[in-house]
Amino acid sequence: MSEETKVPEEEYEKVCFICRRPESRAGKLIHMPGNMDICSDCMQKAFNSLQNGSLGNYQEILKNYPGMGADLLNLNELGLNSPEVPKRQKLKKKKSQEETRPVFDRAQIPAPHQMKGQLDEYVVGQEQAKKAVSVAVYNHYKRISADLSDGIEIEKSNMLLIGPTGSGKTYLVKTLARLLNVPLAIADATSLTEAGYIGDDIESVITKLLAAADNDVERAEHGIVYIDEIDKIAKKKNTTTRDVSGESVQQELLKMLEGADVEVPVGSNSKNAMVPMTTVNTSHILFICGGAFPDLEEIVKRRLNEKAGIGFAASLKDNFDKDKNLLSKTTTEDLRQFGMIPEFLGRLPVLVALEPLTKEFMLRILKEPRNAIVRQYQKLLAMDEVQLIFEEEALEVIAERAMEKETGARALRSIIEEFMMDIMYEIPKDDNIGTVTITKEYLEHTGGPRITMRFA
Ligand code: ADP
Repeated sequence: MSEETKVPEEEYEKVCFICRRPESRAGKLIHMPGNMDICSDCMQKAFNSLQNGSLGNYQEILKNYPGMGADLLNLNELGLNSPEVPKRQKLKKKKSQEETRPVFDRAQIPAPHQMKGQLDEYVVGQEQAKKAVSVAVYNHYKRISADLSDGIEIEKSNMLLIGPTGSGKTYLVKTLARLLNVPLAIADATSLTEAGYIGDDIESVITKLLAAADNDVERAEHGIVYIDEIDKIAKKKNTTTRDVSGESVQQELLKMLEGADVEVPVGSNSKNAMVPMTTVNTSHILFICGGAFPDLEEIVKRRLNEKAGIGFAASLKDNFDKDKNLLSKTTTEDLRQFGMIPEFLGRLPVLVALEPLTKEFMLRILKEPRNAIVRQYQKLLAMDEVQLIFEEEALEVIAERAMEKETGARALRSIIEEFMMDIMYEIPKDDNIGTVTITKEYLEHTGGPRITMRFA
């Protein structure tokens, strides 16, 4: 099916045949024979050139920009009757204010407890984080639909997620965006650089978001941007060299977090003369940053111990050593010590710490979520009418191994995939297999999976 048949005609707007600007920016276009639309600026230039007898020069200039119509001008003066005039000289229209249906109806934003309830089905544990995220998101979308006539503007609730790698930061954001049905762009702070340096410049994040919103500017403007590994752009200590990816990137991000007009290419990730540009305003985009912040625990611990040390015996010192969830006590000051600049932290008012994963946590992640890995494999085998059972002890072995890998819950899938590959290969060979039980012995290579036949 072609583009044109999919999207109603009225959702496109015309672009100038020569300068490629859409009608909304270039002003009313003049329709020419040969299905060409030209803006008044370009038309004026063409007339001026004709009057000065310098059409030749104009053609020369245009020749340097293939696709800008120079070939057609060559063909037949202004190329009005050329059969090569492309049929589609149109660009998707930015919806006008009147016909704009609000993306969010205040009545439909799920209340925090409902949103958390939905998150519970997918994200195990992390109760505090789910609560904080639900409230922040609720406030964010309420802020968007708030009436500003009383002059009270609600501050943006951009978030900072702190938690070890594989603790579910990205997963939490992805689940949230899916449940809210808003576009999501995920970027890695390490790949972002100040404009002009090699790497993606910061605006590329908005380009991604626009693509995730199917080039619908309005949808993109209500989307979510997740910037991972934000700790990697902390200010480097004691450095004299220019800090390309650190502090300066934080500085550049500031404007976007707060709300700025960002000019991005439509339908492409490169800016060049051929690609139409559009403006996305970031004021209503929810920015969530996430990072593992290694060593932040040390900073928190030092601060807490110093505080506890005042006026008490030294024996009280280091009593936070055993605290497994020190990150939940993080303050903005700790993050500043880590190397995040105060202005940047000021624009991420909601701090959310994720709990570190324990073996019990891993076990729950294996079994409980609606799309838990174990369930996914069970579903796959059920399609061959085979029942897959995991012995509790086997699941424990998997959880223990995942803990050893130190890549968080991400390790679970790779461990299961490793041994499931053989099962998935062997089982379809025999139609009579009814159930397969994954045993501890199988995982420890001291035995095989327990298999029962359908017609036994
Ligand atoms: P991070 O972004 O913190 O490094 P991810 O979000 O990529 O980690 O987590 C890796 C995977 O672990 C996710 O894709 C998800 O399947 C699983 N996972 C992590 N935490 C949870 C959780 N609390 N509940 C369910 N699945 C989880």
